Amino acid sequence: MHNLQMVDLKRQYEKIKPEVDAAIQNVLSTAAFIGGPDVKAFGEELAQYLGVKHVIPCANGTDALQIALMALGLQPGDEVITPSFTYIATVEVVALLRLKPVFVDVHADTFNMDIESVRKAITPKTKAIIPVHLYGQSVDMEPLLALAAEHNIPVIEDNAQAIGGHYTFADGTKKMNGSMGIIGCTSFFPSKNLGCYGDGGAMFTNDDKLAEELRMIANHGQKVRYYHEMVGCNSRLDSMQAAVLRIKLRHLDEYCDARRAVADHYDAAFSGNKHIVTPARAANSKHVFHQYTLQLKGVSRDEAQKLLAEKGIPSMIYYPVPSHKQNMLKAFAENQQALPVTDMLTDCVISLPIHTEFTKEELEYVSSNFLAIVDQLSK
Ligand SMILES: *Cc1c(COP(=O)(O)O)cnc(C)c1O
Repeated sequence: MHNLQMVDLKRQYEKIKPEVDAAIQNVLSTAAFIGGPDVKAFGEELAQYLGVKHVIPCANGTDALQIALMALGLQPGDEVITPSFTYIATVEVVALLRLKPVFVDVHADTFNMDIESVRKAITPKTKAIIPVHLYGQSVDMEPLLALAAEHNIPVIEDNAQAIGGHYTFADGTKKMNGSMGIIGCTSFFPSKNLGCYGDGGAMFTNDDKLAEELRMIANHGQKVRYYHEMVGCNSRLDSMQAAVLRIKLRHLDEYCDARRAVADHYDAAFSGNKHIVTPARAANSKHVFHQYTLQLKGVSRDEAQKLLAEKGIPSMIYYPVPSHKQNMLKAFAENQQALPVTDMLTDCVISLPIHTEFTKEELEYVSSNFLAIVDQLSK
């Protein structure tokens, strides 16, 4: 029997064990647990990989988003445009800072921000836009950046799910996800495409002044120790995680390719099935498939999940309740635009296992069982 996981980090670790163990041992023997040389080196290596000037590591992806918003110096009540169809952290930090989340809809085929919905949501109080490269695919950044520039609104990318992917502009220029907005944010949560063995996150920017500010905010508002210029927080990536990330960064492209190969298999297996809508791949995005999420049509999702589980196949719903219907946020959604696509997707999306360690046989097991289950439920 297969031991299938949504993400198989154990087998992934076994393949890089000698490198990882040596790196962790090195941190242990130097005892540079916080702010050690690995943190600096990782920041530089990631900056080079992404083609950005500055990488500012921090404690997790949620902090990265919060610190990015803090660095923009927004005032309470300022509006921040975000998709509702995202992980809660994107919107939560907006509310936490006493800013007003303004929800926009997404495209049904790519699950990503609908630029026309953004256009409708812009007001004179809009002070930031946070596109989320959901499930590993870039938001259509060119028209979004043009719209934002037209209104002089800064763009913060939530790149927690799409590191390693890139976007191609009409003139052929390619830019890595996270490097296109004024600030990019990511998470190194273990299951992310570039994940550590605990919590971690980072911010990216090409702006020297913003970089300094982000660093200060993440470090109690200080540049010189014990001289605090502004109210900040304490958000650090520790050396052990940085050491792990330095190794995993060297494998990131191959990890993304492995995920894409899983998606290719699923796409081919499910093509033509009228109850399954496979995820669209935008021509201008290199999709890195943090998730493989499809839409189930005319078939009970609950039943499908139950039958999958009986076969030992895990599945997940990302996300069962959209942000604008969450109890903590729904008051904001009153008098905002309707989000019919978000509501529709919430009811029909299902994510199948995807990771870097699948064998052909396991993949075949998942896809053939899923097809049989969909077939059975549609009768
Ligand atoms: C994971 C994730 C975050 C938050 O990252 P943490 O490291 O868990 O704080 C934010 N946004 C999106 C879209 C995510 O997937």
